[in-house]
Amino acid sequence: MSLRVQKFGGTSVGTPERVRRVAERIAKAYRAGHSLVVVVSAMGHTTDELIDLAHQVSKNPSHREMDMLLTAGERISMALLSMALEDCKVPAISLTGSQTGIITDPSHRRARIRRILGSRVRAALEEKKVVIVAGFQGVSENKEITTLGRGGSDTSAVALAVAVGADLCEIFTDVDGVYTADPRCVPQAKLWKKIPQDLMVELATRGAGVLHPRSVELAKQFNIPLFVKNSLKEESEGTAVVSRSDLQKGSSKASAKESRKVESERGMEEFQVAGVTADLSKILIRIELTRPTTLPSLWEAAAKNHLSVIAPFFADGKVSFFSDRDGLVEWHKNLEHLSLSGFVDSYKIEKDWVPLSIVGDRFSQDGAALAQVIEVLGRENIVPLLGTSSSLALTMAVRSDQADEGVRLLHREFLEGQKDG
Ligand code: ASP
Ligand code: MG
Repeated sequence: MSLRVQKFGGTSVGTPERVRRVAERIAKAYRAGHSLVVVVSAMGHTTDELIDLAHQVSKNPSHREMDMLLTAGERISMALLSMALEDCKVPAISLTGSQTGIITDPSHRRARIRRILGSRVRAALEEKKVVIVAGFQGVSENKEITTLGRGGSDTSAVALAVAVGADLCEIFTDVDGVYTADPRCVPQAKLWKKIPQDLMVELATRGAGVLHPRSVELAKQFNIPLFVKNSLKEESEGTAVVSRSDLQKGSSKASAKESRKVESERGMEEFQVAGVTADLSKILIRIELTRPTTLPSLWEAAAKNHLSVIAPFFADGKVSFFSDRDGLVEWHKNLEHLSLSGFVDSYKIEKDWVPLSIVGDRFSQDGAALAQVIEVLGRENIVPLLGTSSSLALTMAVRSDQADEGVRLLHREFLEGQKDG
């Protein structure tokens, strides 16, 4: 029998009925003999509502008090789920991030996990209890409550799986798994049965909202088998995020043959596209430095608050990159400060430009992928402002009102077989 970490997202525990349904699902796994650590998010839109509430009482709420407030959301769901489990005659105990010993750095709102003590989790598992842990939260060395950044419960779950030595981690959400593009934007998008960890890291970092990017990084680094499943469908097989070598193992001969067929259509050594994604929660920042050597002070300022820097492009003393929209105020403050201290000549925060990316293999061996992308987008007058590429991903800045159309065009071109299909 296995030791599993299961995570249930906000929609999955969004109403009392859903909490009871989740409890029944957990009870089933418990009765089948599995040991379970369950991570929960706040119910429904609780986190957004709490943020809204904060802004109704304060113009500029401090990050510390925001963390105190937001962690209450997960605390509600963990207690309710634990009660519902007791009703199913399953012994359960709920623990906050701090009680679990999830030790983070001191950065409020975007803390990173340093280690997990987990002694109370292990003790409760010994007593055959289901352990419910509040996602998205931890505690710093000086006992301040922290949060891990929006969507951080996935990261709590995988980090716990590493800490307790779980056999696997299951993320239950409101979609069937990971698709080749967001199915709300591209109805023809295909569900992945298995996706390699490195491509999933790229997809998540570049906007596939289904998994928190840091959770996939952890799963990759510690090789934790990660499954994304629909919590509302009992028999959903979902998507397995696996290592490249596990990708080949166990895949039926038929599907191996099929993937070879797809590759041979494009040529074994040509670039392959696995997914297309855009990210409207990002902004584009363009900076002209006073000297190229002042770049480290810019990175330092970003690192201090864990502001994300995605797809950076550095040339001629200028640097451009994407970052999270919710860091806008902090970026403004940092860049003002750096301008006054003589590190930055000028800067522009472009709120209407967002990243549009293709993820796959062999993008950097020649300019073929970039050329084809520019050509396809150009047919519909989508002109990227800039682009960067690695071997696994190619990211461009496009206008936010053209991002969805861009995703549809690139998906049709690369992932729907016939161009006019
Ligand atoms: N409740 C938090 C959020 O909405 C964390 C999470 O759901 O993962 O961002
Ligand atoms: Mg999420």
